[in-house]
Amino acid sequence: MGPNEPWTAAPFIPRRRTLSSLRQAAHSCRGCPLWKRATQTVFGQGPSRPALLVVGEQPGDREDLAGRPFVGPAGRLLDQALAAAGIARDEVYFTNAVKHFKWAPSGKRRLHQKPGAREIAACRPWLEAELEVLAAPVVVTLGATAARSLLGPAFRVTRERGKILRGLPWAGAVVASIHPAAILRGDPLERARALEQFVADLRVAAALLPKARERPNPAKPEPMLRGGHRGATGMRTAHPRRVGKRQASANT
Ligand code: SF4
Repeated sequence: MGPNEPWTAAPFIPRRRTLSSLRQAAHSCRGCPLWKRATQTVFGQGPSRPALLVVGEQPGDREDLAGRPFVGPAGRLLDQALAAAGIARDEVYFTNAVKHFKWAPSGKRRLHQKPGAREIAACRPWLEAELEVLAAPVVVTLGATAARSLLGPAFRVTRERGKILRGLPWAGAVVASIHPAAILRGDPLERARALEQFVADLRVAAALLPKARERPNPAKPEPMLRGGHRGATGMRTAHPRRVGKRQASANT
């Protein structure tokens, strides 16, 4: 990988895509420099036919060591919020926009660092492949990194959170919310209210699940790279020929 070469996981994506072939291949990904300091690739985890797919930012310290997403403090808060929203953990597939832990040393601690735009773009082919293979009818994005990776750089979680976004080529419906780590990092006096709002966002997704669960054979979503384009808001929308009259819109 030369200094001016674009970072991308694309060459590491297997031609024959199944959840297990993707997971296996992701362990050898060298699409950006993040693998060098991380313990291992933390690929998504959950059922192969999920009703809901949850996308976070990147693995944290605990996830990096365990090799599984959402097993640290933020994951425990997410579990709590999902339960409060009436969503069973075993119907959810959990993944991240970036699959390696980005950190900086601080004494003996490894401090979380936000992934940059290049790293998010480099890792996106893994997320696209997961969306394609899993065909989850409902997707929830947690935090700005996940939302921007999937919905475009102009997307603002604070403005659009809790709305049902439709017309996207890779899921029937998408709901964006904040990352549970932001609740843990935020003002302790505001925590209860922030958690309540987070649960309210998840309830919006939960309300879509009865329909999603009924689908006997969910249609395979179209690969994002081939069909999508960005709308005026920067949000990735389905190609008009493929979705007919459907528009990518926020259901306010
Ligand atoms: S962060 Fe993503 S693109 Fe970068 S090495 Fe890890 S899996 Fe590959």
